[in-house]
Amino acid sequence: MASEVAVSAKALVKTYGSTRALDGVDLEIPSGQVLGLLGPNGAGKTTTVRILTTLLQPDSGEAMVAGHNVLADPDAVRRSIGLSGQYAAVDENLTGFENLYMVARLYGKKKPAARERARELLSRFRLEEAADRPAKGYSGGMRRRLDLAGALVAEPIVVILDEPTTGLDPGGRMDAWQVIRELVADGTTVLLTTQYLEEADQLADTIVVIDKGKVIARGTADELKGQIGGERLELVVSSPDEVAPTAKVLLEIGSGEPTVDTHTRKVDVLVEGGTKALIEALRRLDALGVNVLDIGLHRPTLDDVFLSLTGHATDEGEKK
Ligand code: ATP
Repeated sequence: MASEVAVSAKALVKTYGSTRALDGVDLEIPSGQVLGLLGPNGAGKTTTVRILTTLLQPDSGEAMVAGHNVLADPDAVRRSIGLSGQYAAVDENLTGFENLYMVARLYGKKKPAARERARELLSRFRLEEAADRPAKGYSGGMRRRLDLAGALVAEPIVVILDEPTTGLDPGGRMDAWQVIRELVADGTTVLLTTQYLEEADQLADTIVVIDKGKVIARGTADELKGQIGGERLELVVSSPDEVAPTAKVLLEIGSGEPTVDTHTRKVDVLVEGGTKALIEALRRLDALGVNVLDIGLHRPTLDDVFLSLTGHATDEGEKK
């Protein structure tokens, strides 16, 4: 089961005029796993999702979802997937129950079965109390939960979540993560697009990083973090005079040039040896009489990974 491939895309290309929205994207999701498709605005995430959900045809390349080819058998693909996110529909004027009941009826469930499925999902997504209120009065988090519940009505094999937590406050985001984790525990295969590195780190088994239509990295969160090598040793000293000798010590201990901020009296450097390097730094600085106010060892974040892979930060796309 774990070795079966639920979703695969090979060499997907899609152009809009002179824009190559996708420039040869490959990805594969083993059954029951979560793949995080990570990239800034305009990277090509939505285009990939639209192709995999049969809403858009690629110029070239091939995509299979739940054993069906998206071009040859789009109906079978649609029957196998649930889509939630940027363009999924919650009818504001209907109640939570009516929204789910309507979707169940559209999928061909008989009235009693549709009613039962709607109630079951409302309970699972903690919307029972709000079930009979119009969705327009729901909070952002409740609306997302209803939207996600809508994607699950037909018990899909593959669920595609397009930026499921964009615009949610931290509480709503944690809530959505919990729901997604429960889904995965049921064995559902999930493709999740996100601009949040932390989200991919929290939820995905494998992460594919795309930028300008190309895959620029793939692996587990740990593998990606490992790509930029080691950990960052950061320390703060008590006076500006101590910054230069501290930087000299860190240059000897670390791999690469230390970063120095005289104003905040903070010096940091990448180190290979983890805690050994930390202890060695403290020992040498103590011998020099440097007063260390704060010291810490930090694993690189996925933001650091993105910066090192692309040479620009993840939010730069938004400024275009
Ligand atoms: P976002 O996070 O903003 O949704 P994204 O990673 O989903 O970004 P896409 O929406 O797939 O990115 O867009 C990829 C590229 O293709 C962008 O440069 C975008 O401007 C362009 N693009 C997408 N749809 C169209 C379209 N219908 N016509 C022209 N260009 C388009």
